[in-house]
Amino acid sequence: MTDITLAPIQPDQPSHLMATYGRQAISFVRGRGAYLYTEDGTEYLDALTGIAVCGLGHAHPVIAEAIAEQAATLVHTSNLFEIPWQTAAAQKLAEVSGMEEIFFSNSGAESNEGAIKIARKFGTQQGVTSPKIIVAEQSFHGRTLATLSATGNKKVQDGFAPLTNDFIRVPFGDVEAIQEAALQHPDIVAILIEPIQGEGGINTAPQGFSYLEEVRNICNQHNWLMMLDEIQTGNGRTGKYFAYQHTNIVPDVLTTAKGLGNGFPVGAVMTQGKAVGLLGPGSHGSTYGGTVLGSRVVYTVIDTIQKENAVENAAVVGGYIVDQLRAQLADKNVQVRGFGMMIGIQLPKDCGELVAIARDQHKLIINVTAGSVVRLLPPINMTQAQADDLLERLVALINNYL
Ligand SMILES: *Cc1c(COP(=O)(O)O)cnc(C)c1O
Repeated sequence: MTDITLAPIQPDQPSHLMATYGRQAISFVRGRGAYLYTEDGTEYLDALTGIAVCGLGHAHPVIAEAIAEQAATLVHTSNLFEIPWQTAAAQKLAEVSGMEEIFFSNSGAESNEGAIKIARKFGTQQGVTSPKIIVAEQSFHGRTLATLSATGNKKVQDGFAPLTNDFIRVPFGDVEAIQEAALQHPDIVAILIEPIQGEGGINTAPQGFSYLEEVRNICNQHNWLMMLDEIQTGNGRTGKYFAYQHTNIVPDVLTTAKGLGNGFPVGAVMTQGKAVGLLGPGSHGSTYGGTVLGSRVVYTVIDTIQKENAVENAAVVGGYIVDQLRAQLADKNVQVRGFGMMIGIQLPKDCGELVAIARDQHKLIINVTAGSVVRLLPPINMTQAQADDLLERLVALINNYL
């Protein structure tokens, strides 16, 4: 072990970091399961897990051991060579997703870039010169140029024109708007949506998951690719391995990241059916995509999720949290929505300040998105006792606030 001690951060000390984030003045030095600790040992309950990333909790011993052992053996060779851990990770991911082909990337945005390239290739092969993709209002797909163009949030796009001209936007959940777009734009080749909008405020479509079935039908009718962004909803988060498994449909293209590595940066774009084979030799690549270490982490994360029955746990304990919140906050003007461990509490007013109040007064880490939605993304393997601990802190927080 090295013994480098970092000086504590002074708020008014100049920093060389680009100021792209609004950071809270706190840092954690250690984590264990659902809890985070500051240097002085103060314990915080983490209902955010690095924004739906550490689904199995912090410092999971099985994953920590896999990382340490592989780091001491071999971190990276190259996709110029066979990588047995990558093949094994793809096998696991195919098993839990029902998809056929998998390309490993390093982030969510990069996975969506792969999906957008697949859609363009699909269109080009049919002689469409400027292929278009339908996307939804309030969506979030990433911060690269193509994915910020796909994103339905002006703040994400502001100052970064020209946007790519791939995208046609419709209201989330509005099937008629999709059919209208089809009449107006003969160049549409795909639809890209989130099953539940995460950054947009934990939004499910008004008709629930049957929206996905309706979109699947439209895609079949027009020979479009159905592409789902499950970067946030995947890996057990909603009480199914992937959220579309709440339905009977399968998308043609599926992207994921966040929970796939439990904190290790990995992502994946997956295909099945008519999307298979569109990206052939030389058409896509990533130096870091599917390294030996990253692939072993993916394999171990999926294996651990399976062995711990963490997906079923997310459904049961997440359902309990939602039921309890609805019951205990019944006299408040709030709406509780979400599935599994992806939960939003819509407050009647903007409530960004709740993040600091929760942290300082209740030692609880939460997030507020879309202005007035308290977003909870606890570990998918959270225990019943931890869920009760969460409920106690959260109900006190909201009762004091409203
Ligand atoms: C987080 C997120 C992304 C972007 O992922 P990055 O790893 O930050 O690039 C894309 N889509 C959805 C739905 C997300 O939640």
